[in-house]
Amino acid sequence: MTTTLTGRVVRPGDPGYEDARMNSNARFSKYPAAIVFCEHVEDVANAVRWARKYGYPLRVRSGRHCYEDFTLADGGIVIDVSPMNGVWLDPEKRTAVVQTGIRQLPLYETLWQKGVTVPGGTCPTVGIAGLTLGGGYGFLSRMLGLTCDQLFEVETVLASGQVIRANDREHADLLWASRGGGGGNFGIATSFTFQVYPVSNVAIYRIAWPWRDLPLLLNAWQHWAPSVDERLTPSLVLSASSNDYCYSSGQYVGPERRLRELLVPLLSVGTPLETEIMTVPYLEAMYRFGGLKMEHAQWQMTPEHRHRFKNSGAFVYRPLPPQAISTIASFLHAAPSPLCMIVFESLGGHLGRIPPHATAFVHRRASFHMQYLTQWDDPAADKAHLRWAEGIRKALLPYTFGQYVNYPNVFDPNWAQAYYGSNLNALRRIKRKYDPDNVFRFAQSIPPL
Ligand SMILES: Cc1cc2nc3c(=O)[nH]c(=O)nc-3n(C[C@H](O)[C@H](O)[C@H](O)COP(=O)(O)OP(=O)(O)OC[C@H]3O[C@@H](n4cnc5c(N)ncnc54)[C@H](O)[C@@H]3O)c2cc1C
Repeated sequence: MTTTLTGRVVRPGDPGYEDARMNSNARFSKYPAAIVFCEHVEDVANAVRWARKYGYPLRVRSGRHCYEDFTLADGGIVIDVSPMNGVWLDPEKRTAVVQTGIRQLPLYETLWQKGVTVPGGTCPTVGIAGLTLGGGYGFLSRMLGLTCDQLFEVETVLASGQVIRANDREHADLLWASRGGGGGNFGIATSFTFQVYPVSNVAIYRIAWPWRDLPLLLNAWQHWAPSVDERLTPSLVLSASSNDYCYSSGQYVGPERRLRELLVPLLSVGTPLETEIMTVPYLEAMYRFGGLKMEHAQWQMTPEHRHRFKNSGAFVYRPLPPQAISTIASFLHAAPSPLCMIVFESLGGHLGRIPPHATAFVHRRASFHMQYLTQWDDPAADKAHLRWAEGIRKALLPYTFGQYVNYPNVFDPNWAQAYYGSNLNALRRIKRKYDPDNVFRFAQSIPPL
């Protein structure tokens, strides 16, 4: 161990400290003793040993998109792997070694040059590290599975500073835990090896309805989306009534003509306002779902893109009854801002056929996931938004089961069971084995058995 931290070390008073100490959620403001931007695996290992030697709390960070403040600590050391963002493709084996500091869009762009992709999520700036370690859901999930389902090797720096590789031959339990067991729990992942898939054009759609169609639309969507052709992954966005519209969008890996046929049950609901169905290159679909224009993609996360937000969610295993649908409509009607919404993400298909214990991601049998989102800028509005987000989550608890660990919520007292269900004990055993001193610890880290 060197006697100093290595990499680019940013301390209070240094230029860039204000930016370095903030994450994408502007609701959290903490003052770490240092943020270590690691350029090499050795910088990571050194920072872990150094923080332990001098007794600093440790946090691990990559894309900074955590919903809660799990990657920051007042007076702590934040180990940030974002400078480590290389990608090495092996076209013969259809595999890619990806350093964990890369964000989604740069990864999609790099792989697209070679005509392949890793199934991931939609937000351009989400880090591949947190995404993969917690699961990784997106518009290829029903066809190819989650991002963690493509992971077959992970390089990890342990609490001792030792660097190991987990695959199906060695440390297979750590690989299992890294496939949905949540970020920051077992060590610091420094590279992933993924299976990649050829991609070219895809058919995408977006259909909007007036808000008054919400009950009919939600009911039709929930009976259609989880069992439709698995090459189609549909979503549904129900917004606050002040927006006066709702929409469904999705991606189909196949001909546009067939997508039009698959959409017939949805198009026959209520009175659609606009229907857009088109064939685009896969990368363009990623830009569109990420809210970017193809010609000037701007994926940097700059301070002016930071907002306060509170999101959480729940899995749905059985169709929502009419009472649940009217609860949803009431909350969206009484929402504190037009930015409140619920995003429904369809499951089933390939991801649903993987057994719940085959990876740490346990919620394989759910039909869909509901995400409750709200965003604002004025700190004075915190209370109203937090109350709304928790209010809807609690009101829908009778109809839901479990939560997605990548949408964590510190207000849920049953978080461990909700995220991990019947995989929790196995994860706790693995935590004890790889991090016996509980060095990687935060508000919702897995407690060692
Ligand atoms: C705008 C937005 C859009 C999103 N869209 C999607 C989506 O489409 N699909 C989806 O599945 N999820 C989505 N998410 C959720 C996302 O998957 C999680 O927030 C994820 O944890 C973010 O990872 P990160 O690396 O960006 O975040 P960070 O805040 O850096 O880290 C998140 C967690 O992972 C840990 N971690 C980070 N790096 C490492 C590492 N190298 N080794 C070990 N642990 C590490 C952290 O300690 C923390 O606990 C979205 C989130 C946001 C804010």
